[in-house]
Amino acid sequence: MRINRNYDNLVPSYLFAEIAKRTNAYIKANPDKKVIKLGIGDVTLPLAPVVVDALKKGADELGVKETFKGYPEYEGYDFAREAVAAYYKRNGVTVAADEIFISDGAKSDTGNIGDIFGADNIVMVTDPVYPVYVDSNIMAGRQIVYAPCTRENGFLAMPDDSVRADIIYLCSPNNPTGAAYNADQLKAWVDYANKNDAIILYDAAYEAFITDDCPRSIFAVDGARTCAIEFCSLSKTAGFTGTRCGYTVIPKELERDGHNIHGLWYRREATKFNGVSYPVQCAAAAVFSDEGLAQIRENLDYYKENARIIASALDELGIYYTGGKNSPYIWLQCPNGMGSWEFFDFLLQNAQVVGTPGEGFGACGKGYFRLTSFGDRDNTIEAVERIKTLLQ
Ligand code: PLP
Repeated sequence: MRINRNYDNLVPSYLFAEIAKRTNAYIKANPDKKVIKLGIGDVTLPLAPVVVDALKKGADELGVKETFKGYPEYEGYDFAREAVAAYYKRNGVTVAADEIFISDGAKSDTGNIGDIFGADNIVMVTDPVYPVYVDSNIMAGRQIVYAPCTRENGFLAMPDDSVRADIIYLCSPNNPTGAAYNADQLKAWVDYANKNDAIILYDAAYEAFITDDCPRSIFAVDGARTCAIEFCSLSKTAGFTGTRCGYTVIPKELERDGHNIHGLWYRREATKFNGVSYPVQCAAAAVFSDEGLAQIRENLDYYKENARIIASALDELGIYYTGGKNSPYIWLQCPNGMGSWEFFDFLLQNAQVVGTPGEGFGACGKGYFRLTSFGDRDNTIEAVERIKTLLQ
């Protein structure tokens, strides 16, 4: 037998292991020092009460013969799909309920969507990048081209007609940079994709953090229905990182290579996925109720205020950054020309603050650093004070 030799081409991911190693060594050597972690991409606030009630109610129904449910539909229960469609409508975007697939999260679907595409497509990702897009395509043996995101382009790569790409991953607001595309910029990508017969895989996992008029969905842009698939997640929107639920939208009219993409993905899901559990879909639908949206807003506002606190300190220090406004992430240029890991060690040793070195997300992340707003408020304030004292 042979294994999939494409796995030999994966670059070992040392980033979070190396962060943990250095942090733990420091804590061991300095047990009296309080280390504050602003590196995590996981949420810290609990689920909203209305979501917990819906989870419990869904579980109770499974315990009664009359309301018991077995396998769900592959694409999700109608009530959950309709709740998602109504959420789009609130945000001014028309998406039909039967174009929505309820998923167990955006990671699975952004990683698995490649099942329906040939191995000979050229894949474009931005650099720095959420690693799932790269690794899942390396596993499939696809060629990857990088669109550099730099200070010069505000960490928002734009299409280049001289570069061929068949599949384009865009993530806005972006992990790790926090930068978000405006409508004109997204329109340029949509035009490129329609002109070149490409497909945009649009990751909107952080759409709920958008505060200005940047689109919260690629389907807010004219022409996107004939070139884009959108992935979204309740992980950061509603604290579902442990509960697991997301959704993927494929317009019915999206066609490529003589095939209907919605139909292909349905076929793939019917073969390899047995759906999301009933209580979790009840919880997801509760997120999109009036009460749910009001309750999750409180948590989002909490994280956004953390982001504002971090960003205003960087403003005071005159440090360049992106993100923080439409995103829980702040992507800063390491001060005094330091490298990403050099700055990591400097912050850990001198301020006992842990962040994420930017070069772990790609070559263009060299010299950059990611801080997150998903921490506790008091710790965020304390970390920011320490950073200010250190760098002033
Ligand atoms: N997409 C991006 C850009 C992310 O940053 C993350 C999580 O960090 C995900 C997707 C994963 O989302 P989920 O928890 O829904 O799998």
